[in-house]
Amino acid sequence: MSGNADDLILGVDLGGTKILTAVTNPLGKILSSDQSITPAPKGHEAVIHSILESAHRALGQADVAISDIIAVGVGAPGLINPETGILFTSPNLPGWRDIPLRDTIQEKLGKKTFLINDANAAALGEFYFGAARGTRNFIYITISTGIGGGIVIDGKIYSGAIGAAGEVGHMTIDDDGPICNCGNRGCWETLASGTALAREARHRIEGGMRTSILEYAEGDMEKVTALVIQDAAEKGDSLAKELIGRTGYYLGVGLANLINIFNPELIVIGGGLSNIGNMLLDPAFKVAGERAYKQVFQAVRFAYAGLGRNSGVLGAAAFALQEMKRQIS
Ligand SMILES: [Zn+2]
Repeated sequence: MSGNADDLILGVDLGGTKILTAVTNPLGKILSSDQSITPAPKGHEAVIHSILESAHRALGQADVAISDIIAVGVGAPGLINPETGILFTSPNLPGWRDIPLRDTIQEKLGKKTFLINDANAAALGEFYFGAARGTRNFIYITISTGIGGGIVIDGKIYSGAIGAAGEVGHMTIDDDGPICNCGNRGCWETLASGTALAREARHRIEGGMRTSILEYAEGDMEKVTALVIQDAAEKGDSLAKELIGRTGYYLGVGLANLINIFNPELIVIGGGLSNIGNMLLDPAFKVAGERAYKQVFQAVRFAYAGLGRNSGVLGAAAFALQEMKRQIS
């Protein structure tokens, strides 16, 4: 992203479990960062208070004052309107309804603030500094507890009528599938996320399937997570391998939809579940190739996200800088 390397931006990546705050420059360099726990059960006022504390710690570490910062960019989970700065609702932040998150932070920090959906922020991070540099049309997906996405068309996040576009995790894959947090049935993330993988494993174990998964979870059904299933699969457990293959299958069905609709040049894949690697993605790419138009599938490249846990915080900061420039020009 263009800009003076001396310019500083404060980026915030608000997640359902953690808050990551960083002082960055327009080249994507992180000068300081602070991570803390999101006190989600305590409600939005406590969470905003934690964001402000984290921001001040990051500023202190970089030895800069808030007056040295050009703007603040906040990425947050859920349905967000970047124009109004309102967070409508969030499956990761229970009880949040129509919260003026942007204006509240702007008022408390005394600095121009911008708000963007967390997956859209991560897409922008990858666009400016990561795996999508140099592309104009790509889709970013993050596969973890849910599936988030960001759609970049001609170098800009596609935001839709109220800024809520890119909710790829909630496209219907199975009209009779499991109930989703959003209220719908059979959404992509109910079939191809880490949560879906763990849920299916518990279901099979309860049904009496022979597997070592429960041993890797110390005999505790609550501890059957995607990571445990990955461990078991890597040690050769056949149910774990089958379940990861099944998750990859559903991942591929959704990818085929995105490929046919957007004809992207690139799909960047991030999020914790993508760390499983080939065991998950080989079946996904195979199914996507079988289901999408051949010519359209041949035109798409796949890449792993390049910024790790920093894609959201860097993208939120880049969004703030991009919007500052847009408002000035
Ligand atoms: Zn849904």
